[in-house]
Amino acid sequence: ASKNGGRNRFSYFTPDLQEAAQARQNMGADLRRAITAGQFEILYQPIVSLHTGAVHKAEALLRWHHPTRGLLGPAEFIPFAESNGMIVDIGDWVFREAARQAHAWQASIDPSFQVNVNKSPVQFRRDADMYDGWLTYLEQLGLPRQSIVIEITESVLMQGAEQVLARLQQYRAMGLQVALDDFGTGYSSLSHLKKFDIDYVKIDQSFVSQLETDDGDLALCEAIIAMAHKLGLKVVAEGVETPGQRQLLAEAGCDYAQGYVFAHPLPAGEFEEMARESRKALA
Ligand code: C2E
Ligand code: MG
Ligand code: MG
Ligand code: MG
Repeated sequence: ASKNGGRNRFSYFTPDLQEAAQARQNMGADLRRAITAGQFEILYQPIVSLHTGAVHKAEALLRWHHPTRGLLGPAEFIPFAESNGMIVDIGDWVFREAARQAHAWQASIDPSFQVNVNKSPVQFRRDADMYDGWLTYLEQLGLPRQSIVIEITESVLMQGAEQVLARLQQYRAMGLQVALDDFGTGYSSLSHLKKFDIDYVKIDQSFVSQLETDDGDLALCEAIIAMAHKLGLKVVAEGVETPGQRQLLAEAGCDYAQGYVFAHPLPAGEFEEMARESRKALA
C-alpha cells in the first residue's frame, strides 16, 4: 500500500476500533440484562419422522429480542457470549426452558416427546458445575432424562479426547441423549461414530442442499445412513428444503428430517399446533 493509503487506513481505523470496543462493552452489558429482562426466546423447529410424517421432536433454537437492534440470531451473540463466559448462564437458561417445554409437550403432544438442545464447544468445557442443578430440575419436573437430546458438533470431539469422553459419560450417567450435529463438515471422522457414545447423527445441510442434482452427495448420505444404522444410531437430515430432497432421504432410509419444507423454527404455541396437527394425520 502507498504511504498515503497507509495513513488513511490508520486514521480511519482508530475511530473504528474505538467503536468496536464500545460495541463490545454495550453488548456485554446488554447480554447481562437479557436473561432477567426476559429478552431471550426459544424457537422450536419440528423434527419429523420420514416414516410417518409425524413430529416427534423439536430442536431448540435461541433468539434474542434486543431492545434496540431487533431480533438477533445465535450467530450474532453466541460467539460473544462464549468469549466472556456468559454462555454458561445462557446455556443454563436454555436447558431449563427447553426441559420445561418438553415436559409440557409430553402431556399435550406425545409422552415420549424429545427436545434437542445445542451446546457449543466452550459450554461443553465449562458447564460441568451445572449438571447437578439440571438433574434436580428434571426430577422436580418429573421429566424422564432421555427426553433431552444434547447436540454437540464434531469440533467438540476433536478437543482432548479423554476429557470429552469423560463429559459424554457424565451425560450418559445423567441419562441424557446425545446427537452429533452438522455431521460431514469439519473432520467428519467416521470413527467418531463408533468411539463416542451417541444416539443420533445429524447430516449437515451442505450434503442435503444439492441432493437432487449431485450423485456424490446422495452417495454420501446413503453411506452415512447405512453406517449409522449398522452402529445402532438414528439419523436426522438437516436443512431439508424441497419435497425432492425429502423423498430421496426417505428412500435412503433416513429416520428423521428437519428443514423449511416442513417448517421454519416456530414460537412454542405455533409449534404445538403443528405437531398436534401432524399427529392427527396419523390416525
Ligand atoms: P444448528 O444446530 O445446525 O441449527 C440449524 C440451523 O439451520 C438453524 O439456524 C436453523 O434455523 C437453520 N435451518 C433450519 N432449517 C433450515 C433449512 O431448511 N434451510 C436453511 N438454510 N437453514 C435451516 P439458527 O437458528 O440461526 O442457528 C444457528 C446455529 O446456532 C445452530 O446451528 C446452533 O449451532 C447454534 N445455536 C442455536 N441455538 C443455540 C443455543 O441455544 N445454544 C448454542 N450454544 N448454540 C445455539
Ligand atoms: Mg443443532
Ligand atoms: Mg446442525
Ligand atoms: Mg448446521
